[in-house]
Amino acid sequence: MSTTHMMEVNGLRKAYGGRTAVADVSFAVAEGEIFGILGPNGAGKTTTVECVEGLRVPDAGTVRVAGLDPVADHDKVTRLLGAQLQQSELQPKLTVREALELYASFHPRPADWRTLAERLGLTDHLTARYATLSGGQKQRLSIALALIGNPKAVVLDELTTGLDPRARRETWALIEDVRDSGVTVLLVTHFMEEAQRLCDRIAVIDKGRVAALDTPAGLIRRATVSTVISFTPSGPLDDRELTALPHAASVQTQEGRVVVEGTDETVNAVISLLARHRITAHQLRVTEASLDDAFLDLTTGADR
Ligand code: ATP
Repeated sequence: MSTTHMMEVNGLRKAYGGRTAVADVSFAVAEGEIFGILGPNGAGKTTTVECVEGLRVPDAGTVRVAGLDPVADHDKVTRLLGAQLQQSELQPKLTVREALELYASFHPRPADWRTLAERLGLTDHLTARYATLSGGQKQRLSIALALIGNPKAVVLDELTTGLDPRARRETWALIEDVRDSGVTVLLVTHFMEEAQRLCDRIAVIDKGRVAALDTPAGLIRRATVSTVISFTPSGPLDDRELTALPHAASVQTQEGRVVVEGTDETVNAVISLLARHRITAHQLRVTEASLDDAFLDLTTGADR
């Protein structure tokens, strides 16, 4: 069975003057998925998606959106691909309604802006001027404008930066709605939690290269330490017995508290060992590795 690719990037390279922003990036985004691009500052994420949008011309490699070249077929790609606008592109005095009508007029077959406004919770703010909107309202408008041309895919770059946790969660729900309506989403983000919650697959980009490409769970499995169990044993416990447990990466005892790093299997083995010795584990905590751990393992940080 062949998967239809909405976007394909192969061997992408882009430099600004002498400075390489993207050295070698390849990935393919399947139709209908939320594909994340995650990476430290300056890793080349924005440059990559700007090449996908046809806003920048690659130095090498190929980019295709629904089989089209975003530079050569710019007009067609613009109709297929909704891009979120930069905040500076909107006049501060423009009202929400005016912005929606204006952007709808740019497209041959626009979505009904009233329906979009309703879906994005903007109906009560139609007469509000852009400058007076909250961060979350601006982002909702930005998503509405990205969707107004009825695109098959959208590029959302750092959509939730600067939003408070509630507005961020609301925006996540909207992004899921967008995907559920059949639109493929290419999402650039700094936030691990966001990537973990939303993305079907993630390309971790570091220093202009793809450091890893996997599902969130797959990336977490690659983290060196996947699970940490800590507890205060009710009786004496020999560190050597713990160290010998399957996949135990490290064992530390400090002020009576034992911390074992390993895998889920190690955790089960610790529990069995304690049961065999009839030792009770007080204040038992088990922490799963997060995408943060995987990210730190996979990236070095472009500026470091
Ligand atoms: P951030 O997360 O900080 O937005 P990013 O991963 O999106 O970073 P890019 O914005 O693609 O990274 O930038 C990659 C590198 O290219 C950086 O070193 C950046 O300073 C540089 N760069 C980006 N745009 C330009 C430009 N127009 N002219 C010169 N250098 C640029």
